[in-house]
Amino acid sequence: MTDVFNAIVAEDVDGKTVASLKQITDAQLPDLPVLVEVAYSTINYKDGLALAGAAPICRKLPLICGIDLAGTVLESADPAFSAGDKILVNGYGLSEVHNGGYSQRQRLNPDWIVRVPESMSLSDTMALGTAGYTSMLCVQGLQDQGVTPEDGPILVTGAAGGVGSVAVSLLAGLGYEVHASTGRVEAQGHFLRGLGASALVPRQDLARDSKPLEKELWAGVVDTVGDKVLATAIAQTCYEGVVTACGLAGGAGLSSSVMPFILRGVTLRGIDSVMASQARRQRAWDALAETMNREHLASLSATVPMSGLLELAPSILAGEVAGRLIVDVN
Ligand code: NDP
Repeated sequence: MTDVFNAIVAEDVDGKTVASLKQITDAQLPDLPVLVEVAYSTINYKDGLALAGAAPICRKLPLICGIDLAGTVLESADPAFSAGDKILVNGYGLSEVHNGGYSQRQRLNPDWIVRVPESMSLSDTMALGTAGYTSMLCVQGLQDQGVTPEDGPILVTGAAGGVGSVAVSLLAGLGYEVHASTGRVEAQGHFLRGLGASALVPRQDLARDSKPLEKELWAGVVDTVGDKVLATAIAQTCYEGVVTACGLAGGAGLSSSVMPFILRGVTLRGIDSVMASQARRQRAWDALAETMNREHLASLSATVPMSGLLELAPSILAGEVAGRLIVDVN
């Protein structure tokens, strides 16, 4: 590779954040010990916001976008890594305060790096990306609170999205009965059943004003949507059930009541992937390597070139993209 390479850089243009594909050099990378040849990144909702300048995701400008990356170490001043190591990074402020994965090369802090599990390819890791890794954090959130397949159905909201679709596949693979809530029953129902969903729940059944307590339906919930959908899911959670909340695709609000918590012992468990500890990350990635159905992974992911991302961002924000997108940066 020459010293000049491609990257998508967000810059301040007349007070607005504008992202564009640029040619940059090593001199524009940060002074960090591990130099990586990036193979793949991903695009999810937060990337869509950053690329479209629709929310202040990039808090420092100029900044290379892309919250995930997977690649091969070229050189490392830190003894923990050597040339040839296969690595990945999710979150840790990439595309927020640190340069991200939409670049053919990147320099990284070794503390952010996860080793790619033996049985995974670089492309597998980005087919999962932060979305898939967050799905596993949600699944482990349910498991850690003691929710078993025998306890009853699990509701996954925003099921046709990146986090939701991987969660459907993982939970079904672990033997849970999965009910997939989607706003696209017609278009995505077949896809979701193929991932293991045993029932589909139209989004409008949940995106409404709810009563403090409704009929108990769910032993556990993986919620990627927030707002009214989350409030209804909490009101429908069974005695001592667990709700994991990781997303806000439908809004950041939450108008609920204490009733499910004090009368049914419901647990609301927040899930954050960005600052999760290394131990939690490696545990999630090792579990993904063991659990993720590779045929499902292939069926729910597609590869797009980095050059097409700026055009793709509005579709992501409009909720028109299903499953996971791998970004080929080369
Ligand atoms: P996607 O864009 O892939 O999927 C989001 C899904 O949410 C859509 O596919 C759609 O599902 C549903 N949705 C979209 N708009 C609305 C709406 N207005 N009302 C209700 N549902 C809607 O995003 P991801 O799966 O990558 O991320 C999901 C959420 O999780 C995002 O809010 C993201 O920011 C958050 N997230 C949080 C992380 C964390 O660390 N906590 C990490 C990663 C993501 P359908 O078509 O099935 O209805």
